[in-house]
Amino acid sequence: MQSVKINIPLGAKLIIEKLNKAGYKAYAVGGCVRDSLLMKKPEDWDITTSASPEKVVELFSPNVILTGLKHGTVTVRHDGKSYEVTTFRSDGKYNDSRHPEKVEFVSCLEEDLKRRDFTVNAMAYSEESGLIDLYGGLADLKNGVLRAVGEPMERFEEDALRILRGVRFVSSTGFSIEENTLNAMKKRKDLLKNVSVERIFVELEKTLLGEFVDKALLDAPEIIFTIIPEMEKCYGFLQHSKWHLHDVYTHTVIAVKSVRADRALRWCMLLHDIAKPDKFFLDDKGEGHFYGHPEQSFEMAKVILKRLKTPTKLSEEVLILIKNHDVYLPTESKKIKRNLRKFGEEIFLKLLEVKFADNQGQGTQLALAENKKLTQIKEIIENVVKSGECYNLKTLAVNGEDLISLGYKGKEIGKVLDDLLDDVINGNLPNEKQRLLKSLKKRKIGL
Ligand code: ATP
Ligand code: MG
Repeated sequence: MQSVKINIPLGAKLIIEKLNKAGYKAYAVGGCVRDSLLMKKPEDWDITTSASPEKVVELFSPNVILTGLKHGTVTVRHDGKSYEVTTFRSDGKYNDSRHPEKVEFVSCLEEDLKRRDFTVNAMAYSEESGLIDLYGGLADLKNGVLRAVGEPMERFEEDALRILRGVRFVSSTGFSIEENTLNAMKKRKDLLKNVSVERIFVELEKTLLGEFVDKALLDAPEIIFTIIPEMEKCYGFLQHSKWHLHDVYTHTVIAVKSVRADRALRWCMLLHDIAKPDKFFLDDKGEGHFYGHPEQSFEMAKVILKRLKTPTKLSEEVLILIKNHDVYLPTESKKIKRNLRKFGEEIFLKLLEVKFADNQGQGTQLALAENKKLTQIKEIIENVVKSGECYNLKTLAVNGEDLISLGYKGKEIGKVLDDLLDDVINGNLPNEKQRLLKSLKKRKIGL
């Protein structure tokens, strides 16, 4: 037992106490123990117990949900929150690098901790017993090390998802993967083909959203390329450009890390330059160019995102950003309003974030100087939106109803409104209802 104190929330504490009173062992286990020791707020509290699933159901009915009974998991509800209570188990033999042939319930905690993936995830805690750490998880946690429990090669052969979970934990904790563990992850990376694409998507996205995503992508590029083979060509690909300090992959990693941890932004930065190696062209002065790479990256990203079963709305947003990541953005207010109209406020602002991150990834003074321009554009957008200036049909002083009452019909209405919006944005007409109606009347009678 180690003298470590963890604050277990009331719900989990009461569940553990009730199990103990009924004569069973029970502990908080896994991610919640790891995160508490890292001073992070755990997402959820899992409990492991010697009680059989049936016993857990009996003790906590009717506040139970029977979703994972087959794996020994009963969800117990307390005060509006869910706690997963799982019977001590060992996972037996695995048949397809993913699913255990049979789950066996066991009577001791030791066996249960042994089936867990990394030492930092294989610790249990209760107020009564303190920290139970059979695999050196606490020392690894203090040293920032991710180490497989037991023989790494076997553990990744049993369940290949652990390979990606490892990459994901590097991204969320900044830990380094212990050498044997990392070698085994890389050696067994091809087994990822046995993992469902839905699980891969979840883990890769969590990796992208982590604080230490740069470390994760740089420590295990081979594993990323197993999922996205199209990306391998970017690794070490020199750009021969005065704008760029780094090869395409390093640039990509810095760009991902530099952008805000938003799903669409991070996916966009990961894939924005994926076509660069295919579009590379060296001019006779020795300067590299990548004409047409945004469109080609867009096409490749479309295929990749579809393959990963990315939700449609997210995929659409990522693709718009990739396609436009290299467009020239003017700083004149009129042109900014045109872009606001074209992209909408949310996407336009995200596009600026993409460009900031892209410049960061380029790493040259030349690129960073562009950031001033971007800041200027951002300020103008904010002013336009705040002051209610017109930049879209919603902010135009007339609407479809007004046109109908003047006798406009069908498709003509949309076309005329668009023209009017052009005139207002370009400063040819003020955004005042009476003036716009007058101009519409004139137009109707062909003046
Ligand atoms: P998160 O912060 O995402 O919840 P977590 O480590 O808690 O991370 P969970 O999926 O909630 O991950 O799993 C809870 C615990 O179950 C883990 O900490 C680990 O002990 C164990 N575990 C989960 N998945 C695996 C796996 N594929 N192989 C071995 N053990 C696993
Ligand atoms: Mg968890």
